[in-house]
Amino acid sequence: MVHAVVGAQFGDEGKGKMVDYFAVQADMVIRYQGGGNAGHTIVNEHGKFALHLVPSGIFNPSTVCVLGTGVVIHPANLVKELRTLQEAGISTDNLVISERAHLVLPYHIWQDAYEEASRKKKVGTTLQGIGPAYQDKTGRFGIQIGEMRDLRRFRERLEQAFAAKLQRMPGMAEFSGSFEEMWDELMAAREVLLPHIQDSLPLIQKAIRAEQHVLLEGQLGVMRDLDWGTYPFVTSSNPIAGATSVGAGIPPTAIRRVTGITKAYTTAVGEGPFPTRLDDAFGQYLRDKGHEYGATTGRPRACGWLDLPTLRYGAWLNGYTELALMKLDVLSGLPEIRVCTGYELNGEVHDTPLLTADMEQVQPVYQTLPGWQEDIDDVSSYDDLPANARAFVEFVEQRVGVPIAYVSVGPDRKQTLVR
Ligand code: GDP
Repeated sequence: MVHAVVGAQFGDEGKGKMVDYFAVQADMVIRYQGGGNAGHTIVNEHGKFALHLVPSGIFNPSTVCVLGTGVVIHPANLVKELRTLQEAGISTDNLVISERAHLVLPYHIWQDAYEEASRKKKVGTTLQGIGPAYQDKTGRFGIQIGEMRDLRRFRERLEQAFAAKLQRMPGMAEFSGSFEEMWDELMAAREVLLPHIQDSLPLIQKAIRAEQHVLLEGQLGVMRDLDWGTYPFVTSSNPIAGATSVGAGIPPTAIRRVTGITKAYTTAVGEGPFPTRLDDAFGQYLRDKGHEYGATTGRPRACGWLDLPTLRYGAWLNGYTELALMKLDVLSGLPEIRVCTGYELNGEVHDTPLLTADMEQVQPVYQTLPGWQEDIDDVSSYDDLPANARAFVEFVEQRVGVPIAYVSVGPDRKQTLVR
């Protein structure tokens, strides 16, 4: 069974926890887009980990973890991540890297710094070279990771690509390091990665034909999708479920289950419109209570109330068969809880996200629900949640029109209520 787990908001919804939860039964976990700018936080019996690129199935030695063709890979950073896992006693032998995945090269990071510095309005990139690597991929200047196998040819390709880039972007020189510095870094990482690089398609075909449990792990969320998010404040790839077909190499008809991951409120890192954002003391309260600071960058996340238009939009675009509602525990202790049911713009109420320029001007329309005072982090069954907590869950479910199959009340795998 092919099962996609995708972000239903702006990213950081808690996908890492749920992929780790599902991965216990998965034969294969595939990352299909994005790069090492994700920060999936996982807490399990091995400890606490922030995974950036490695699929969240890595903790189970019998789960094959694939970095698919749609992913972009910074070799040295991937090696660093593998080392951290190995130091915690976790085997990384089960990692497979698609030979077609594109490289994030040191010059992409230099380019990222140069481009963000020259933008009047910042995109809020993580400056890890992800955007430039995808630009090169679509511009057909990119280098696939499988090309690292043939050293002579790889060096030639890299020399040409680097020289051509500096020629196209003379301003970038100021941000650049040297070719040899780049080469040494790549060669050190190549040693470690080479055994993992292969044609991933036969493996994936075999797993799907044998009806194994294949998990597709999304990064970021629908509102950061290159096509459907708050452009240009988006990522350079498509987190939505349809992109799994391209980035993993799976027929669209094979995907049977799509779990949308949402928090019980909304957070966003970076720039761009976020209608329910609260820049007041309550926003700070949510940030502190929910520990809303980026796992990769440490950047504080903007916080606000749950936004139903986003969830409904994502339900259409991703085809959620179910939702997982995360961090419900963070809302405990509030007298009342607000939920955004629509956006008002020029006297008209919209129930779905709009073009960015309009989204910047909308006013959220709220419905207020009663809160609950009890702590819920040690509740072990849905029926034991306070009545108002259940009423909140059921309100969201009914308004989005998708069953909420999981409610999460804490970071640990065990703090997951199945309905
Ligand atoms: P991802 O990028 O979508 O995987 O999200 P992150 O891992 O960056 O953010 C989720 C954060 O919330 C992590 O620190 C998790 O450990 C934590 N977390 C996940 N689920 C829950 C939950 O239900 N309650 C609380 N309090 N924390 C949670």
